[in-house]
Amino acid sequence: MAERKKNIAILGSTGSIGTQTLEVVRANGDIKVTALAAGSNISLLEQQIREFMPSIVCVWEKGRAEELKLAISDLPVKVVTGMEGLIEVAIEPKSELLVTAVVGMIGICPTIEAIKAGKDIALANKETLVTAGHVIMPLAKEKGVQILPVDSEHSAIFQCLNGENRLQIEKILLTASGGPFLGKKKEQLFDITPEQALKHPNWSMGKKITIDSATMVNKGLEVMEAKWLFGVEVENIQVVVQPKSIIHSMVEWKDGAVIAQLGTPDMKLPIQYALYYPERRFLAGERLDFWKLSEITFEKPDIETFQGLALAYQAMKQGGSMPTVFNAANELAVSEFLKGKLSFLGITEWIKEAIQAHKTIKNPTVDEILETEQWTREWILSNYSISRN
Ligand code: NDP
Ligand code: MG
Repeated sequence: MAERKKNIAILGSTGSIGTQTLEVVRANGDIKVTALAAGSNISLLEQQIREFMPSIVCVWEKGRAEELKLAISDLPVKVVTGMEGLIEVAIEPKSELLVTAVVGMIGICPTIEAIKAGKDIALANKETLVTAGHVIMPLAKEKGVQILPVDSEHSAIFQCLNGENRLQIEKILLTASGGPFLGKKKEQLFDITPEQALKHPNWSMGKKITIDSATMVNKGLEVMEAKWLFGVEVENIQVVVQPKSIIHSMVEWKDGAVIAQLGTPDMKLPIQYALYYPERRFLAGERLDFWKLSEITFEKPDIETFQGLALAYQAMKQGGSMPTVFNAANELAVSEFLKGKLSFLGITEWIKEAIQAHKTIKNPTVDEILETEQWTREWILSNYSISRN
């Protein structure tokens, strides 16, 4: 019996998670894509439009949106732009689930509007939960929508929680690959170039998260993400370095049992799990071969060298608007590092300085979160001599 197609919308369809989401959709053939959004890559977006025929698409950059309109004038597809456009895509009436695969805090408002409109969220955009988790999670509960994790560690934890009572969690064991500079000391990191930092040993991802993995800021963001997704205090989230990225995370229970989720590093698994939860579908790809693998090793994270993680714990303990400062300082620092205007170690230096300078706002509203983001950028720009573009 043919079932009705599930309708989804995707923010960030031209990126690493966005394109892999469309691969999953293509392979399964029973999902209808009703809306897409991208930043500026209109050539890829046009291909996606012609293949998946959404009814509405958003291009963040106005000029590029105009170009796209001309390019697809033969199709009945509405083209929108800017934040209003992103929100229109997020709340597209026919979609039941929104995949949030944009990078950064830009995802906050569209995610909130989608939840208000009753859409389930397949959440890749961790920066949204890190900065606005205290708004998003209660709102999702109130509206009865599901927040389904796409981040591989969080999907792993989510899978480990199946059929269990969350109140009986002892701790979450969040695994980390350690990134390309695992084992290096601070003196060896002074001259790291963007090209070196963009080489992740196990995962092929967008540029921003790849740099975040190299600084271990990504793991810091993930600790905060886990806190909000699973309602666990940060003291009960322990980071375990496991360089091969085979164990995607684990949960330790009150009785000492540890449940883990393992698999080859492939983001299509958590993406597909979020799209079809609680159903498991066939997914083409390599399977784990334990004979080839032979061993899985573990290490303590080196928080002296990779301060991103320690700073994240500090920001989370201070709470309120401080995680926003942590995240906003990092977003700016990573973009300057990628432009060659800031050193690798400068990234965590900026985060540290901005955290020290900020006076926490308790329980910030969305407007206050966005103001704090602006404050952080202004503070950094006025304290360091970098250009504004
Ligand atoms: P990418 O940089 O590969 O893709 C980002 C996407 O967002 C692109 O489609 C980009 O469009 C779009 N975009 C950027 N700015 C805007 C904007 N202002 N309006 C609309 N669209 C915009 O990132 P990733 O896919 O790697 O990461 C996405 C999110 O998922 C991040 O939060 C990341 O932390 C998280 N994540 C990613 C993982 C991965 O494996 N990649 C793993 C776990 C989490 P354009 O192409 O036009 O620039
Ligand atoms: Mg992850």
